[in-house]
Amino acid sequence: MGRIGDAAHRSGREPEAIRLVGVSKTVGVERLAAAVAAGLTTLGENRVQEASPKVAAFPDAEWHLVGQLQGNKAGRAIELFSLIQSVDSMSLAERLSRIADTRHVRILLQVNIDADPAKAGFSATDLDAHLGRLLELPGLRVDGLMTVGRLVERPEDARSTFVALRRLSESLQARHGALGGALSMGMSDDFEVAVEEGATIVRGGRALFGDRPTIA
Ligand SMILES: *Cc1c(COP(=O)(O)O)cnc(C)c1O
Repeated sequence: MGRIGDAAHRSGREPEAIRLVGVSKTVGVERLAAAVAAGLTTLGENRVQEASPKVAAFPDAEWHLVGQLQGNKAGRAIELFSLIQSVDSMSLAERLSRIADTRHVRILLQVNIDADPAKAGFSATDLDAHLGRLLELPGLRVDGLMTVGRLVERPEDARSTFVALRRLSESLQARHGALGGALSMGMSDDFEVAVEEGATIVRGGRALFGDRPTIA
């Protein structure tokens, strides 16, 4: 997407440093095929069940889980996804570590940076408290942080959220060498602002695939 490149250049970044994940929930295999043919290499789903047939249809794509993961689906998630972006609790991290076996399960830690009661994720304070122990869990590789921002009226209103996640990442990385620097932030309405503030992964659904059907 040219708009990612433009936003990268505006902020003096290399467009190659930003990965676009096409979040394909509710999108059928036919539409996905068109996007993959057009060059989309990374796809995201927020449910294990919905992802299963799509991963089978596009095994060469890189698949990311971006939605809440129930502990009992953790094993299946490890099989399907190469990055689990939505690890939102110590207990889920421990569970993934237990079943990781000899694999290295790549994860991001989801942070509820706006302290929104409707959103999942570690609070910044909890993450600070637990991170040392979490990074010592065997079988996990913690690539970085992820957040789902508030719904905002104007993209600009999301900037403070993205700045807060970047600063949290910087301060945690300064104390924990094992924490990766990936920042997954920004969705269809605000990904350009996220890129300007340092996103390395942006998650686009509607901007790529059109509006999702509304649930009646
Ligand atoms: C649906 C979803 C997206 C994509 O949302 P759009 O607003 O359609 O870009 C991104 N991240 C997560 C976690 C999602 O659930």
